Amino acid sequence: MTRKYRITLLPGDGIGPEILAVTVDILKVVGKQLDIDFQFQEALIGGVAIDETGKPLPEATLKMCRDSDAVLLAAIGGYKWDNLPREQRPETGLLAIRAGLNLFANLRPATIIPQLIGASSLKPEIVAGVDIMVVRELTGGIYFGKPKGIFETETKEKRGVNTMAYTESEVDRIAKVAFETAQKRGGKLCSVDKANVLDVSQLWRDRVTLMGEKYSDVELSHLYVDNAAMQLVRAPKQFDTIVTGNLFGDILSDAAAMLTGSIGMLPSASLGLEKPGLFEPVHGSAPDIAGEDKANPLAQVLSAAMMLRYGLNEPKAAARLEKAVFEALAQGYRTGDIMSDGMKAVGCKAMGEVLLRILES
Ligand code: NAD
Repeated sequence: MTRKYRITLLPGDGIGPEILAVTVDILKVVGKQLDIDFQFQEALIGGVAIDETGKPLPEATLKMCRDSDAVLLAAIGGYKWDNLPREQRPETGLLAIRAGLNLFANLRPATIIPQLIGASSLKPEIVAGVDIMVVRELTGGIYFGKPKGIFETETKEKRGVNTMAYTESEVDRIAKVAFETAQKRGGKLCSVDKANVLDVSQLWRDRVTLMGEKYSDVELSHLYVDNAAMQLVRAPKQFDTIVTGNLFGDILSDAAAMLTGSIGMLPSASLGLEKPGLFEPVHGSAPDIAGEDKANPLAQVLSAAMMLRYGLNEPKAAARLEKAVFEALAQGYRTGDIMSDGMKAVGCKAMGEVLLRILES
């Protein structure tokens, strides 16, 4: 039976429209092959939304996103809007959409693509085969806890304060996403905290352990964050899925991403309790190469694969996209950002055509 999904496309700024156009063509082909009817609708976000409506996230965009099954975002921002006040900046639109869709879980994979192994700063034998998913809590913890601010003490000295706090329900909901993610992957989950020092981490550990009783098919372990950082660069292959709070996740997801050495290849997903999730590349709008057909569309294509796997539960379609990307690289096709000696240089559109040819062969 045909499955129907309404997908909101947010091309945004810079290279956004170029990489999203390539991705949509690929989704259409995979949809036809697997009897999936994607209904695409487009909306404004970022600088282009500021130009047309005065706001980086117009209400109509948020409404359209809320009424859809998934949101596929490209990138926002550019020189033109860099000097606007913060509430009118394109980046504010990004924070607003995450908040507006209640996206509390951020998933960032760090997968070594064999053809790009030389791009990692670590030795090939350490990183070969690395396939990690970092599940980061996105809307709580020290970035949002109160009290926060810079206050004056009785002795007129300034004191900066932030509060790391998590409630049981906040931990439970991110733990649930993480266990379900681990189930779809290698079945191993490592929870990272600082329970030897922080009370908030002790609560985190207790709740994750309790939740683990419901997921007997997932092997749960715990690490302190300092040890986790060390293990990530010492022996990253030991990890499958990692779950952690906002601050630790911010740091560890960047460290894990750099194991792959190529940030231009990395997708991400932000999920809430219900649909829609938001799927976007980790990189920005690359205004320096916008409109020149030089952009690498692969992080966007891999973001669409995450949408299929984690947002729409269509793992077969996701695997087709991922396989096409690996095959294109195996055949030696490279955009400028990942180019190396002996490879075949292609632009954004041509890379899209290569992917289509592989999918249709
Ligand atoms: P960037 O990721 O846009 O670019 C960094 C460098 O990587 C540039 O040289 C760029 O050409 C290159 N690059 C990035 N993606 C590429 C791709 N797909 N193909 C080929 N080359 C690629 O980061 P930046 O320069 O710091 O920021 C540019 C703009 O993007 C800013 O306005 C920033 O605020 C915004 N930004 C948006 C997001 C987002 O939309 N999620 C994320 C980061 C930055």
